Amino acid sequence: MKIFVTGGAGYIGSICVEQMLNQGHEVTVFDNLTEGHRKAVDPRARLIFGDLQKPEEIAAAMREIAPEAVMHFAANALVGESMVNPSKYFRNNVYGGINLLDAMVAAGVKRFVFSSTCATFGPPERNPIDETLPQRPINPYGESKLLFEKILRWYDEIHGLKFVALRYFNAAGASETFGEDHRIETHLIPNVLKVALGQKSHVEIYGTDYETPDGTCIRDYIHILDLAQAHILALGAPESAYYNLGTGGGTSVREIIATCERVTGKTIAVVEQPRRAGDPPLLIAASDKVKRELGWQPQYQSIEKIIESAWAWHVKNPGGYGD
Ligand code: UDP
Repeated sequence: MKIFVTGGAGYIGSICVEQMLNQGHEVTVFDNLTEGHRKAVDPRARLIFGDLQKPEEIAAAMREIAPEAVMHFAANALVGESMVNPSKYFRNNVYGGINLLDAMVAAGVKRFVFSSTCATFGPPERNPIDETLPQRPINPYGESKLLFEKILRWYDEIHGLKFVALRYFNAAGASETFGEDHRIETHLIPNVLKVALGQKSHVEIYGTDYETPDGTCIRDYIHILDLAQAHILALGAPESAYYNLGTGGGTSVREIIATCERVTGKTIAVVEQPRRAGDPPLLIAASDKVKRELGWQPQYQSIEKIIESAWAWHVKNPGGYGD
């Protein structure tokens, strides 16, 4: 298929682009490179430098490429930043997204895969989190993604735009060529690996008094290659749907650090800090629906394998993409 990918220079987008190219799809990336990196765009893909905030730029690119499907990764995704600057999140994640949908409608493109998030649920009533639980986000990031999920329903009903919204839990790991490099790194695994690389003195643990077995937060870490496979399957979805996407297993912050020590052979210095605002203690996905309906099956269930792939990438690319 001919696929148009917004945010294809970012962490998740770049690896999905690579995997789609490996499976024979033709890919165009549309990215403004504020979060992404030029070197993260697979050379087999075409890169269009453009901004979703400018309706004429995205409309012109969509008209020219006339793809069969769009994958939409371009977004801001930091919970903490969204609590300080909500406007940025609603503009980029909602207004930018509407410009993209309108460009699709104008160009007659009918298939859409959306990067959504477990942050649309807020602290859940129970775990694992399935698609029937109420969505009550507790930060503008989660709210912006939930608003866009709701907008999608109406573009389907009114314009016949078929969508799949994939609500990721914690994306982690790397492919052989592409990995995680944020200019401001807030995520746990890359921060721990930076300590192992000698680029940071220690990692901070945000909260050790949660009601979990070791007192630290538990998350469902999903290998980026499994995530990419779900996107590829979503291209063939028979109808519009929302899916939660994780492994169904949980790993605590302390367990992540211990696994990183085993994988890297380095001791990781830690400093215990108070809780980070907005962090629920436990977030685990129920992904039965996507398995049942799209035939998705994660291949890399073990946290060791996920961290090994991330470590291999960081060792090969100690300066990330170098920009
Ligand atoms: N975390 C931490 N130290 C860090 C970064 C994150 O203790 O330097 C914790 C964070 O509080 C959360 C978990 O690790 O409980 C995963 O955080 P991350 O930012 O990687 O992903 P999130 O779950 O927020 O999307």
